[in-house]
Amino acid sequence: MRPMFLSLALLTVLPAVAAPLPVCGYEDRPATLAGYDDWPHTLLDTLYRLPEGYAPEDLVPVSDAGVGTGDMRVRGVAMPDLQALLAEAEAAEVRLEVQSAYRSYEYQVQTFAYWVAQDGLGAALKTSARPGHSEHQLGTALDFRSADGPAAWELTDWHETPEGAWLAENATRFGFVMSYPKGEEAVTCYSYEPWHYRYVGREVAAEVEASGLTLREWLWRRGSHGAG
Ligand SMILES: [Zn+2]
Repeated sequence: MRPMFLSLALLTVLPAVAAPLPVCGYEDRPATLAGYDDWPHTLLDTLYRLPEGYAPEDLVPVSDAGVGTGDMRVRGVAMPDLQALLAEAEAAEVRLEVQSAYRSYEYQVQTFAYWVAQDGLGAALKTSARPGHSEHQLGTALDFRSADGPAAWELTDWHETPEGAWLAENATRFGFVMSYPKGEEAVTCYSYEPWHYRYVGREVAAEVEASGLTLREWLWRRGSHGAG
């Protein structure tokens, strides 16, 4: 491991050289853009995590958008676009539901322990985030499902349903990005999750789509990991 002062010195001399995307692994580096206003740019993965106390204050019931149950919450910043997305889906006779929304740090502790008990540590690490590492703690990530179907992860590929396909086609226009697309496990660090979308706002979502990169790669390239 290179001493930190050397890395910083090199960055000062060669600011144009971007650090390569880190290989997927399991660490507990603090996310660097972790303020509540940084929500479009906070990079979370298997390496970077939020502090235990991160809990946005503008969480509102998902049911304000006519979906989910009363205890599911999402950040207010995402609500207008969520409502617009659902209205357009309904107009296209696509009935979406929300399966899971904001997850507190404490909730993630329980969820991760559940999956470890269910599937073993190795499998749990691929499909479930360790506490603090979940985009759900941001309050801007949602797991969708079909209104008349089971939880999307119980299907072989939710993208094959009309709802999953519609969302994949249209989510970006409303500021939502599929965080863990198919075939990108090596760079997203998680298995394919056609139901998991993160709200980053329409502008960032459009930029991510135009880049052809996954959200993790795009955030990394943008410098959301901080100074190196
Ligand atoms: Zn999710």
